Amino acid sequence: MSHGKELFLDHAATTPVHPDVVGLMLPYFGNHFGITTSLSELGRTSRRAVEEARCRAAALIDAAPEEIIFSSGATESNNLAIIGAASSLSGRGKHIITSTGEHPSVINACRHLERRGFEISYVSPDAQGKIDPALIADALRNDTILISIMHASHETGVVQPVEEIGALARERGVLFHCNAAQSAGKIPVNTHTLPADLLSFSSHKLYGPKGVGALFVRKGTVIDPVLFGSGQEQGLRPGTVNVPCVAGFGLACVIALRDIENNGILITSLRESLEQQVISRIDGARIHGSGTVRLPHISSISFRGVRGDDLAAYLDAVNIVVSPGSAQSRTWHDQARRSAEVLPEKEGEEGTIRLSIGWENKEKDIRRTVDCLEEAVRRIREFAAASPDGDVTVFTFPDKSNAAAALKALKDEDMVFSPVLKPDELMQALCSNISLACLSRDQARIGSLLGAHGIEIAGMHTAHPMERPMKKKERDFWEKVEQIKKRNA
Ligand code: PLP
Repeated sequence: MSHGKELFLDHAATTPVHPDVVGLMLPYFGNHFGITTSLSELGRTSRRAVEEARCRAAALIDAAPEEIIFSSGATESNNLAIIGAASSLSGRGKHIITSTGEHPSVINACRHLERRGFEISYVSPDAQGKIDPALIADALRNDTILISIMHASHETGVVQPVEEIGALARERGVLFHCNAAQSAGKIPVNTHTLPADLLSFSSHKLYGPKGVGALFVRKGTVIDPVLFGSGQEQGLRPGTVNVPCVAGFGLACVIALRDIENNGILITSLRESLEQQVISRIDGARIHGSGTVRLPHISSISFRGVRGDDLAAYLDAVNIVVSPGSAQSRTWHDQARRSAEVLPEKEGEEGTIRLSIGWENKEKDIRRTVDCLEEAVRRIREFAAASPDGDVTVFTFPDKSNAAAALKALKDEDMVFSPVLKPDELMQALCSNISLACLSRDQARIGSLLGAHGIEIAGMHTAHPMERPMKKKERDFWEKVEQIKKRNA
């Protein structure tokens, strides 16, 4: 499977669609275009495809087909589980427990409920990124109706003790929702041994198409719908079923389950190789959650004094796709701190990147990545050391090819520079999100160097490390964080 010239190490964000899955989906965009509610043969063909996919998705998590509700992905499944459970159980209580490390689709569903009179307790993971079930037990109240804890972290891959948490929920008669978006298809997820009443998973994380996923609703669990319409998917997810993608998702589940062991071994060995090489070659590197059980494919690494955003921008410029991540000790509210700052983090501060491996990666990909990481970290640190409080000039580029050519030109001339990810508001534009920060004293030389290479620049500005004002959105956010902290204290 080829991804063009890009080396893709961001499989926790999404995965390419498996070729067999594409093949299976195609007829449903063509002759088999019926809707599942039609009484015609076209309708029957689509219904058969969807019901087969339901059996396949159910088999991945050892559930019964009627316990599978197709949705548009894990975001929707999480919203349906949390808001649907809160709505159906609000007569019993209005207290929910979750963790600060959850995905935004869980956190923001909880915040929505807070605005509607529910109380949410946010427990924090420990230094390894793990949630202590004792903290959940402490947070339980008589009016607790739901616990929502992810199976494994999308940031660090740390696997949570969900069996224990689920058992605790069961003992106390509280519903347990588990977000298995990252774990399903990567490690065994078995709803017979995992006492979850609701469990979300997503197709595009396991080599299926985007825009489709499922919510497992254990037999006997009653939740309200959040959408209203013609009653498809047992009334819990009305709307015309996306037949091609549901069918593709079903096959992706079959393939994931078939290959789960072999892929797990292969990917774990690639990740171990990556982490060993990083630790032995790059000073000040730290692997998050390395002391605990993790998913095979995710590696979350911090490099002392280096912002994850800048590192990800550097790797992007050399066609390696990773995600700037947040360390496990950082949480959803810390994400708001990913600021428009143009300078590397101060010495001692850490940024994080998340590299996530797929079965199509090879050992040579890992070697190339470590080589690039080593060089990127060295250059970013060199730049930070050379510009402790002096002005810097930031060059922006109209597209990635100009940004990449500029990076190469500056490297070849051994200039002191650092890639920086553009401020949020500029990221909205379609131009390249890679900017290069240089020492202002080198500005003229770099300007003529870029000109000599025919490299187009979109803009240039000087910045000073101390001058960044906090944006209103960010200020509001921190106020909210303070309120939550006070309430939880
Ligand atoms: N939950 C987790 C843990 C995720 O990693 C993601 C995707 O990044 C989601 C939920 C959202 O999934 P989807 O893209 O299917 O809506």
